[in-house]
Amino acid sequence: ELDRKPLADFTREEYDWLARKVKHLDQLYYSDNPDPEVSDVQYDNMLNRVERLEKLRPEWIIADSPTNRPGYAEPSKNFMQVEHARPMLSLAKTYSERDLEAFVTRIEDESSSPLCVELKIDGVALRLTYRNGELYQAVTRGDGTFGDDVTRNAIRVQGIPKNLPTGVDNIEVSGEVCILREDFELLKKEHKSISNVRNSAAGALKLTDPDMVAARRLTFIAYDLALARGLDGSDPIVARGFPTSQSEALHRMIPWGFNTSTEWRVCRTSQEILHFVHEINKRRSSLPMEVDGIVVKLDDFQAQEDMGYTNKSPKWAVAHKFTNLQSITTVKDVVFQV
Ligand code: NAD
Repeated sequence: ELDRKPLADFTREEYDWLARKVKHLDQLYYSDNPDPEVSDVQYDNMLNRVERLEKLRPEWIIADSPTNRPGYAEPSKNFMQVEHARPMLSLAKTYSERDLEAFVTRIEDESSSPLCVELKIDGVALRLTYRNGELYQAVTRGDGTFGDDVTRNAIRVQGIPKNLPTGVDNIEVSGEVCILREDFELLKKEHKSISNVRNSAAGALKLTDPDMVAARRLTFIAYDLALARGLDGSDPIVARGFPTSQSEALHRMIPWGFNTSTEWRVCRTSQEILHFVHEINKRRSSLPMEVDGIVVKLDDFQAQEDMGYTNKSPKWAVAHKFTNLQSITTVKDVVFQV
């Protein structure tokens, strides 16, 4: 019933209940054995309402509000907790083309950089740190500040090079650990209980036996590149020729041994982006991996830094999630009609 109640009529107790409910759903979703109580669209609607209530009544905001950090992951007792050198954030979401266009209009007003449009791969985020050209650490997103050190499992994931070519020394590569469609079909035959790619990938990354991790046929798809500190903790050195844009980074990571999104495009207008969205949505079931939307990012790295971040997500990017017809109706009725 709180799904439809006008925000202005909410009591503080109702806000409190909704915020804690979202936190509870986060805990379930990000646990090692997730079994969501509600659909993603319902979850996003609830979170969206908490966010808007907090704008309306900032005095009510609870200290541990789910709007203030990316997801929630219970630290795992089987792995060491590691602090990320820079936060690992979530992404702002749009479900309607109108909202996607609004995002592009805002971005165009603030920056002249083109936009890089990529596939949104359905899996679990992982950050790799390379020092002196060697894989040093692989850490899950966790709560965005601290994650689990799963390095010993990461080396059993396809598409994670242990060494980089000479001259590529201290870098951070973030990406999605997923299971390719053909591997998932094989896996389902071996493990009858498996039904969901994201949950299987998330669960496999947290297994304690690296041989079992290898048997789950995980694949890493890189989508983010940054410079890392040196082995002695020294500041990142901006090497000559280091990519200055997202599209350049996606190109350059391939010869280093990474897989990147199989399809992406640099766009200048909403029309071009929507064309890509429609095209991908049509071919979605024949893509090599499960894709749940597209991600639009400012292409130029300097323009990204200039635009900055909230506690939860970069201001220069948005995930446009695909919805089936059923969900589109729900979204129109519930999320955007208050
Ligand atoms: P998300 O998974 O929707 O989007 C952010 C993530 O997308 C990033 O962290 C990154 O790992 C991934 N990603 C994939 N391809 C990418 C690319 N090309 N570039 C950049 N990032 C890319 O967000 P989230 O914060 O991990 O999860 C929130 C979502 O999870 C919600 O929107 C909801 O759909 C779902 N959820 C559902 C429930 C529930 O109870 N049903 C509960 C919690 C969360």
